[in-house]
Amino acid sequence: MSNRRPPTLDPYDPLGIDDLLQPEEIAIRDTVRSMLASEVDPYVAEWFETGDLPARDLMRAFGKVGLLGMHLDGYGCAGTSATAYGIACLELEAADSGIRSMVSVQGSLAMYAIWAFGSEDQKQTWLPRMASGEAVGCFGLTEPDAGSDPASMRTVARQDAGGDWILNGTKMWITNGSIADVAVVWAQTEEAGSGRGVRGFVVPTETPGFTGTTIKHKMSLRASVTAELVLDDVRLPADAVLPEVTGMRGPLSCLSEARYGIVWGAMGAARSSYEAARSYAGTRTQFGAPIAGFQLTQAKLADMSLELNKGILLALHLGRRKDTVGLRPEQVSYGKLNNVREALEICRTSRTILGANGISLEYPVIRHMNNLESVLTYEGTSEMHTLIVGQALTGQAAFRPSQS
Ligand code: FAD
Repeated sequence: MSNRRPPTLDPYDPLGIDDLLQPEEIAIRDTVRSMLASEVDPYVAEWFETGDLPARDLMRAFGKVGLLGMHLDGYGCAGTSATAYGIACLELEAADSGIRSMVSVQGSLAMYAIWAFGSEDQKQTWLPRMASGEAVGCFGLTEPDAGSDPASMRTVARQDAGGDWILNGTKMWITNGSIADVAVVWAQTEEAGSGRGVRGFVVPTETPGFTGTTIKHKMSLRASVTAELVLDDVRLPADAVLPEVTGMRGPLSCLSEARYGIVWGAMGAARSSYEAARSYAGTRTQFGAPIAGFQLTQAKLADMSLELNKGILLALHLGRRKDTVGLRPEQVSYGKLNNVREALEICRTSRTILGANGISLEYPVIRHMNNLESVLTYEGTSEMHTLIVGQALTGQAAFRPSQS
């Protein structure tokens, strides 16, 4: 039995999770945190309120510190571990889910698609510029009538006699869509519905027939650009197709990358809200005592701290597996389902601790809470991830109504 006296408990890290991190992971975390403290934190509530994000400036700033496509190798990317990338996602989302979304879509969706499935020419053309933040990318999968079931997409690509591709269709809810220089667009090349003929296309957004229009009136992810893309006879050369993948495996592999970042990111929004609530509870006095001294408040803080730290441990476990044996998509679903659900609950509980102040943008809590409503839905809704986990556990797919 050890007689060692454990170190004093740190309320910011009660389980000592930092001891599980490598020095370079802590260094990356500190770099990202201090960059966000100067470039994002002071302004993000205003960006959220006005719905105006200086997205291109931010993208360049993120490129400078190597955050874009940071877990990819070569082509100007930082080539860090998946765990280090996850840690960066947590810090980014502690600032705002919209900021993390911008980086995720650039690195895990648009860049990853080109990196994993693109030709050498496509990689050379786009990846270094995207890694530096000079070029912005987006990822067009969802459509007005195809969300959870993207294989039912209606966007079509047909090849003419000369070999050119002609794309027609509409993509909806596309992050970075109206500011992008390049869109990775998924389209049917065979009959709709089966998903077998789905191919990815690298579409420079200046191509005639391509339009990206910003979606207004969002109450969530307001510090993020979301757009509708219209492709009206967009003509592309034969080599615009991503050559290395056919079928739904293409977009689904990219989504798995981005969902992995969300497993970490959601805990960032949760941490920021929890810390705001813990600090507020220590200074807010009612009935002659700080509300932190009431048992009901302590029960809330204790439960939040449990879920927050369990969520970070889950993210770290998945990160270490991704860096060693790799992750199954179902394991990513475990992480996304649990961590987004718990993060949302932590934000809602934090909101109650702040009372009326909880609804003000003076504090980060309501912003994180509203943002997480989008995070719960995008990259696979919580229902879809429940069904993925359910299928993994039972061997039965329950995505479609049973045929009787
Ligand atoms: P639907 O699929 O219509 O689902 C509606 C409801 O029905 C949900 O609760 C869903 O879980 C439920 N449901 C559906 N099918 C089943 C079933 N079989 N069993 C049980 N319940 C079911 N997409 C992109 O391609 N690129 C992006 O960059 C992007 N960014 C986004 C940014 C934001 C802010 C938002 C909100 C969305 C973004 N999306 C993006 C789209 C997102 O991925 C979709 O919204 C998501 O996949 C859900 O699709 P849907 O909204 O059409 O909902």
